[in-house]
Amino acid sequence: MKKLIAANWKMNKSVEESVSFINEFKKIIKNEKNADVVICPPFTALATLSKELKNSKIKLGAQNMHFEDAGAFTGEISPLMLKDMECEYVILGHSERREIFNESDFLINKKIIAALKHGLKLILCIGENIEQKQSGKTNEVIENQLKNCLKNIDKIQMEKITIAYEPIWAISRGNPNHKAATKEDAEEGHKFIRNVVENMFDKNISKNTRIIYGGSVKPENAKELLSMPNIDGGLVGNASLNAKSFAEIVKAAK
Ligand code: PEP
Repeated sequence: MKKLIAANWKMNKSVEESVSFINEFKKIIKNEKNADVVICPPFTALATLSKELKNSKIKLGAQNMHFEDAGAFTGEISPLMLKDMECEYVILGHSERREIFNESDFLINKKIIAALKHGLKLILCIGENIEQKQSGKTNEVIENQLKNCLKNIDKIQMEKITIAYEPIWAISRGNPNHKAATKEDAEEGHKFIRNVVENMFDKNISKNTRIIYGGSVKPENAKELLSMPNIDGGLVGNASLNAKSFAEIVKAAK
């Protein structure tokens, strides 16, 4: 399956910085067709990047959204607003949303249902924290997150869902020297996720669902991680802020 490489810029980059990234990035990857590429800038850059990415293969994504279409939800952005920006993707359930903003699986499930209702594709993030890993609960945590977040989702809707396995202990939080999961650990997590998806849906859905890895992916480790059989791409935070390093990661996705 064609790999998907997504950039999560988090709360970084002005509109001007976003545009200069895109101009530089487009020049470097112009002949690259091996991977689908999604850029998820902050909300403030969506409108401008949506124009910049017209007629380009690079897709636009948001980092979060509310589940209601409109209403008295100060500070929130609705799925309709993302459609208005011509966003194709939205990241849901990122660990920073879960940990810092107390998002629960229940809330994330409501957001998933709303995103699908409006035809958005989504990247659902799951993954265990360090305490859960050290107490041997990784599989239990991942399975619960999948079952709760994908409640009432049907097989056809699964075509629009990419799962991002992001072990929280591997996320860089801006530290370029932070260690990613080993390719073996990441592969084990992905394999387990694929099995859970098979049990929840069927073999075909499980085979065709993209499961991408996130957590300190960088040019130095992209090739080895992306060459693992169950790793179908990457969600990249810190290393996606630089056009050259993000392009190297995209090029590593053969
Ligand atoms: C992330 O938080 O989604 C992420 C993958 O971050 P980083 O690449 O910086 O570890």
